[in-house]
Amino acid sequence: MLDNYMTLAEGNLQVRYVEGDERFANETLRKLMESFALLSEYFRLEESSLQGVRAILVPNRSEYDRLVVGLLGVDIEVPSNPGRVAQPQRTDIVFLSASAYRQHSTYYYDAAEYRRLVVHELVHVFEEHLSPDIEASPRWWSEGLAAYLSGQWKHADQFRFRQPAMDGIRLGSVPSIQEIQADVGLCYDWGWTIVMFIEHTYGRDTIGKVVRECREGNVLATLGDDPVAFEKRWREWLPKENRRF
Ligand SMILES: [Zn+2]
Repeated sequence: MLDNYMTLAEGNLQVRYVEGDERFANETLRKLMESFALLSEYFRLEESSLQGVRAILVPNRSEYDRLVVGLLGVDIEVPSNPGRVAQPQRTDIVFLSASAYRQHSTYYYDAAEYRRLVVHELVHVFEEHLSPDIEASPRWWSEGLAAYLSGQWKHADQFRFRQPAMDGIRLGSVPSIQEIQADVGLCYDWGWTIVMFIEHTYGRDTIGKVVRECREGNVLATLGDDPVAFEKRWREWLPKENRRF
């Protein structure tokens, strides 16, 4: 499936790419190495328990669809939405190469934003590796974790994780956790604020504990917290924390 792809590797990390994408292959590998080390520390990962992480940079939309469906086995609409530029599954991540953004996506390349995207996708790989049941993991939790740990929440960039929550907090228009859970868009917009609240309240080891122990997708039950009290405290924390966001 990857016959025409070249390989760049360092330790247990690999980038596959086609001719012309050497620059992005290098950039991706460097960022993977750096963030793999940081995330291993964050999640207190046993050394070498996560092996064979591979990023595949594809040169166009049709190749993206071929590999996401054929290699990852992920069921997506084809041709896929131009808003899609990365898809993780197990230890693989298919990226639309940044060299193809202008022609095959709704994005333009920005080095800092691209690097945060690489971290975002690697967070998904870590979560899947550590989770006892990734399929049951709620979307707000997975996307919140990825947006929070990648630092995407700090930046008003093309991926727009920050602004919706900032606007909502400013306008006093904050959805309930139930509403967030029920709406894909709200999961991306607000998930990171809940993850951040959990980390600030319980510490980072609790984030790792939830990832490792959340079996039925009930994050708040894994925290051992009363959901009503938890939501109340999160809501009160948001506008206060907002000043430091
Ligand atoms: Zn994601």
